[in-house]
Amino acid sequence: MATTGRRSAKRSTAHKPSQDEAQAASDGKLIYTFAEGSAGMRALLGGKGAGLAEMTNAGLPVPPGFTITTEACNAYYAAGRELPPGLWDDVLAHMTELEAATGKGFGNPENPLLVSVRSGAAISMPGMMDTVLNLGLNEQTVAGLILLTENERFGYDAWRRFIAMFGRIVQGIPASAFDEPLEALKEERGARADTDLTAENLRGLAERYGQIVAEQTGEPFPTDPYRQLELAIRAVFDSWFGKRAHDYREFNKIPHDLGTAVNIVTMVFGNMGSDSGTGVAFTRDPNTGARELFGEYLTNAQGEDVVAGIRTPAKISHMREELPDVYRQFEEIAEKLERNYRDAQDLEFTIERGTLYMLQTRSAKRTAPAAVKIAIDMVEEGILTREEALQRVDPAQIVQLLLPRFDERAKAGAQDRFLGKGLNASPGAATGKAIFDPDRAVEAKEAGDPVVLVRIETSPDDVHGMLAAKGVLTARGGATSHAAVVARSMGLPCVAGAESLRIDYASRQMRAGDVTVAEGEMISIDGTTGEIFAGELPTIEARFEDEGELAILLGWADEVRRLQVWANADYPRDAERARAFGAQGIGLCRTEHMFFEEDRLPTVRRMILAATRATEAKRRRDAGVELTADERETVEVFDTALAELETLQTDDFAGLFRAMDGLPVVIRLIDPPLHEFLPSYEELLVEVTRLQDRLGGDGDGRSPLDAVGDRVTPAIARGLEKVLGKKDAGRAMKLLRREGKASTATSAPDEKGSLEAELAEKTELLNAVEAMREQNPMLGMRGIRLGLMIPDIIRMQTRAILTAAARVDDEGKKALPEIMIPLVGHVNELAETHRIIEAEVDRLAKETGRQVAYKFGTMIEVPRGALTADQIAEHAEFFSFGTNDLTQMTFGYSRDDAEGKFLLQYVDRKILPVNPFQVLDREGVGQLVRMATQKGRRTRKDLKIGICGEHGGDPQSIAFCHEVGLNYVSCSPFRVPVARLAAAQAALAAKEAKSR
Ligand code: PEP
Ligand code: MG
Repeated sequence: MATTGRRSAKRSTAHKPSQDEAQAASDGKLIYTFAEGSAGMRALLGGKGAGLAEMTNAGLPVPPGFTITTEACNAYYAAGRELPPGLWDDVLAHMTELEAATGKGFGNPENPLLVSVRSGAAISMPGMMDTVLNLGLNEQTVAGLILLTENERFGYDAWRRFIAMFGRIVQGIPASAFDEPLEALKEERGARADTDLTAENLRGLAERYGQIVAEQTGEPFPTDPYRQLELAIRAVFDSWFGKRAHDYREFNKIPHDLGTAVNIVTMVFGNMGSDSGTGVAFTRDPNTGARELFGEYLTNAQGEDVVAGIRTPAKISHMREELPDVYRQFEEIAEKLERNYRDAQDLEFTIERGTLYMLQTRSAKRTAPAAVKIAIDMVEEGILTREEALQRVDPAQIVQLLLPRFDERAKAGAQDRFLGKGLNASPGAATGKAIFDPDRAVEAKEAGDPVVLVRIETSPDDVHGMLAAKGVLTARGGATSHAAVVARSMGLPCVAGAESLRIDYASRQMRAGDVTVAEGEMISIDGTTGEIFAGELPTIEARFEDEGELAILLGWADEVRRLQVWANADYPRDAERARAFGAQGIGLCRTEHMFFEEDRLPTVRRMILAATRATEAKRRRDAGVELTADERETVEVFDTALAELETLQTDDFAGLFRAMDGLPVVIRLIDPPLHEFLPSYEELLVEVTRLQDRLGGDGDGRSPLDAVGDRVTPAIARGLEKVLGKKDAGRAMKLLRREGKASTATSAPDEKGSLEAELAEKTELLNAVEAMREQNPMLGMRGIRLGLMIPDIIRMQTRAILTAAARVDDEGKKALPEIMIPLVGHVNELAETHRIIEAEVDRLAKETGRQVAYKFGTMIEVPRGALTADQIAEHAEFFSFGTNDLTQMTFGYSRDDAEGKFLLQYVDRKILPVNPFQVLDREGVGQLVRMATQKGRRTRKDLKIGICGEHGGDPQSIAFCHEVGLNYVSCSPFRVPVARLAAAQAALAAKEAKSR
């Protein structure tokens, strides 16, 4: 039976308005100076605006400025992209205040005020929206700037940057229109870096840029600073609904109606010489969580150079030597901000002629190991309580810690395939086809290929390609470049700044030394070490035992959570792993999975083929009727096959009980329809026809269907027509006959005998499959319906479970078996099954002289079962919600087909908020869960209730299970640690809600 697919969905951490905000919003104020805001006003001022305000009020060096609220952005959209009434006058008034605060004039050539216009939403969306720097420049103000700073090169550098940035972001001119003349100029002048260009070169470049804007827009570059400002504010608002921001929000489940704020900040310059610079730094290492400043900076540069990865920057520790006083001040500020926010921060700063300015502080995005380490360290440092630390780690991140990584030995043996090394920008191992373009990465993914996106550097326009990739490799940029930051936040392995690679987009290949990798060839990247290899590398599983810090955090989680965490496991090795991960029981062993094992299938098939006739014969025998020899033989075949399966299943169950010594093991009796164990009907049909033809095709002119004559049962003929249609069935038979003739011509006579035997066997199988075929097998003879039709299967499984339990008890271990019945919709189904099981238990007790204790319970996965849970609880000691089937039957969506056909589109088009096979639908399916829990407990107070559908490992669904009062969740072994943390967070959230 198909299980529903799992894709990790990131939690939305949508910000709730604070009291300050509620007050502010009701004032209808659209602009706040930094001095008026606070950290609590994130929703209104965006993360950046709130951070700038908080830093200003903490007395840190922040350039003066103000923030236009997210509400203004929403009003702009509501008005059809028009600035809301009064906003522009308000901007003008605040610009006048800014002039007074800085002593400069906006557009004043004598002492020009320049500003940056920066986006900033409530939830950090790094690099997804637009920012314009150096705004306010024109030919007059640039001349004034040069006079004031006595730095002609700086002035023209700022001027050309401004035109390019404004042209690109506000006027929509492609970046390449500006990059190409810059690259050409560098080549002409023999300049390696931008910094090698002279003032004269940059002035010429600025002029050229002005012409480019005029050519592309048909109008001269706007010289009025207020016009520039208005256009830039609109562009930032517009970028909220730009494609890349939209895609990012979709992926991260960020609501689209939050809007972005716009921050107008006095410009400070990092490109005023060697005592100036700009950088980004984290207060702790975002990869490992180590407590040390981690980041990069560039001297004589502007912020865009660092974030866009245009130049490869120096490590922040280098600043200690280069600019010791500034470094010390920065260290102090970092510490202060961390304590203030009680979290690791991601900082942006600029140094203008030796003076440090803080431009941004925000919560640092971090890898899973870093998240765990930082949370634990902050408890030890007295910054956080344990409970707060538990809430700081996203349960979905825990999976990353348990991700596979490359096998070190295989890596050592692959040194001849080593292509180079870059920065270990985001941990994890990825193997996939090297694809050099984001759109093609999406196509490759859609075609089912694993992809490693390879770019010289990434920009926000590449995000859709990153989303489609298993890993990202860039040739340029540092650990805080766009590629690194975004990959980390997505949990994607990333190697950045691998400068030895020569990537050529045009020829779709990259060179590393003398090795060339063409697009589509496999490569492997190790985001934990930065290594790059040609070809595929085998991966190995992470070792949970080595994750000491995770164990500490989960230990704290265990003290807080109320829900138990069990695992779904069918084999002893899975049960052992689950137990090592902290599982407190097995909540679901799908016994039919054991039937599917290849060496068992022949026995299973023998049992199935005889099952119906044998069951009927036994009924007649029990009624005193003498059986025919044929019937006796069928019964014997059936019983022998069942006995073989009993032996095998007894061993299987004993293995599970041993692994879970002392913990409960829920074993579910057979669930899927029997024909799932038989070969496919269509394949069998073709095989039988092929055999028929090889044996009997005589080419006497009769129709193809007739030609195979007597041996074709009407069922085969009908079947072939049903599958292929009448015309195609005829054609297929003709073809098969031709093939058949060719092969019969070469068949030896003794081969004929074996072909005939094969034909007889396949025909029997085909007839059996045809007899069992159902139009809607998911709603057909499966689950307990099947057990009630062929009760010997229930008896066999009961004996195997109890015999295994007794055996393990004899070994000195403790087996706690729980027998679970699937797909119960009516209480009588459960009552009748219970009777059959009890009779078997008694029989076994008489045979062995021993009574084995067990619990008896049922899955609740049919809506009627949930609706009548009070009756069902009369016979069940426990319930386990099978939310895969319950979702299927409540929505009426086939779990095998819906995701492939319409469901994912439903989610994309917001017809449904989420995929209900991944996240439990609280309103519909959840209502049934809640009702069944209440009704069940009304009948039986101590009814133990769990969940074993896919939702048992999903943090949001786990929170619901906590709320409803289930006893445990059961999920796949790898999600056990995730569920432990999620269950603790659910308990903490409930506690908080209660105390509010
Ligand atoms: C379920 O339906 O949720 C369940 C656990 O059973 P299965 O997935 O095996 O149908
Ligand atoms: Mg089910």
